[in-house]
Amino acid sequence: MSHLQHAQPSVLSRMWGAVYNLLCWVTSLCVGSVVNLVFALLSLVILPLWAVGYVAYLLFTGGRVQWAAAVVLIVAPLSITGIATWFALSGFFSPTQWVVTAIIAVISWGVVEGAVGVAHHRYFSHNAFQLTHVKTMTRVFANWAAMALQMDPNTWTPEHRLHHKFGDQWGFDRYSPYNNPLVQFEPDKGTRWEQFLGFTWSHVGWMLDARAREVSPEAEVWLTTNPVWKNRANDPILQHHHDNHWKVVLMQQVGIPPLLWLVSACVVLPFGVSLFTVEWFAVFMLGCHAGRAHQHGMTHFINSWNHLWGAQPHNKDGVGTSARDVWWLNLLTGGEAWHNEHHTFEGLAIHGDPHKFVDRVLDRNGTLILFAANIGWVKNPRYRIQGTNQIVPYIPGVKPA
Ligand SMILES: [Zn+2]
Ligand SMILES: [Zn+2]
Repeated sequence: MSHLQHAQPSVLSRMWGAVYNLLCWVTSLCVGSVVNLVFALLSLVILPLWAVGYVAYLLFTGGRVQWAAAVVLIVAPLSITGIATWFALSGFFSPTQWVVTAIIAVISWGVVEGAVGVAHHRYFSHNAFQLTHVKTMTRVFANWAAMALQMDPNTWTPEHRLHHKFGDQWGFDRYSPYNNPLVQFEPDKGTRWEQFLGFTWSHVGWMLDARAREVSPEAEVWLTTNPVWKNRANDPILQHHHDNHWKVVLMQQVGIPPLLWLVSACVVLPFGVSLFTVEWFAVFMLGCHAGRAHQHGMTHFINSWNHLWGAQPHNKDGVGTSARDVWWLNLLTGGEAWHNEHHTFEGLAIHGDPHKFVDRVLDRNGTLILFAANIGWVKNPRYRIQGTNQIVPYIPGVKPA
C-alpha cells in the first residue's frame, strides 16, 4: 500500500473529486426523493400510528413507556402531517411555496441522514475515517449528530458497539428482531407473525419500551474495555454533548429553521423577492421538520428490515451475521442498507467503488465522506476493493494498482 500512502494528489484532481462527489450526492438525493414520495406516507402517518399502538399495548399491559421517544416518534410526525393537511385544505401555501417546502424537506432529509450515517455511525461508532482538525470537527460532528434526534454519540456508540459485538443476544443487542421481550426466533425460521413482532420491536418498540434499557452487567464490563468506546467516553466535547443533549436538541429544532429562513430572505431580498411573510416562515419550519421526521422513520429500517430480509453475500458456510444487504433501501437510508457488508467488514467508510457512479448513488453517506476527503476535512476513509477482502484507505485522485 506504500504507493497509496506516498501519492500526492494535485489540487485540480481534488477539486474535481469534490465536485464529482457532490454531484453524485445530489443525484442520489433526487432519485431517492422519487422513492420517498411513497415512503413519506409510511414515515409521517403509518409508523407514528403504529407507535401509538405500541404505547397502548404498554399501557394496557402495565409496561413502562419512554415518553421522550414517544414525543419524537408520535407527536412530532403526526403534528407535521396535521399541519401540512391544514395548510393544504385552507390554501395557506401557494404552489411555489409547496415546491420550496418539498425541496427544503429533501435537503433536510439528506443532511440529517448524514448526521446518523456519517457522524453517529461511520465515525463515532466505527472510526471508519479520521478527522483532520480533530477538535473543531468533533464539535461539528457532535452538533450534526444531535440534529437526528437519536440521542448523543456517547449514548448511540456504546449501544451500537454492543449490537455488532453481541448481535441478537438479549441484554446486549437492544434492537435485535430475533431476541427481545416481544419474540424469540431463529433467523429465516420465524412465522409471519413472529417476523412481524420482531420487525415491530426493532423498528419502534425498543425505543418506546423501558425493557430495552435492561443491559446486562457483562455488557457494561465489555464496554469499559472496548478501545473505540473508551476513547469516546473520555472525550470532553462528547461528554458535554451527553450532559446537555436535550438543550442542544431544543436549540437546534427551534432555532435552525428560522435562522435558515432569515438568511435566505436576506439573500433574495436584493433581487426584489420578499420572504418576510408568515407563509414563508412556515415553509422553512415545515420543510425542515418534515425532512427530519421522515429520516427518522427510514433510518430504523436498518435495525428491522436489514436484519430480517435480504441478501447475505458475505456470510460463508453458515457463518456470519443476521444482517442483510437490501440494495433499494440504500436510496432511503443513504447507503446504510449494505448492512451484510457492513457487519462483515466492520469499519468501512465507503460502500462499493469510490469512483463508480452507480455505487456513489447507492451510498450517499459514503459519497459525502469522499467529498469531505477531497476538500481535506477527513482523511483515510476505508473502502473494500470490490471482489476482494482487501480494505484500503481512499486517497483523493489515486486508484489502487
Ligand atoms: Zn455499525
Ligand atoms: Zn446491524
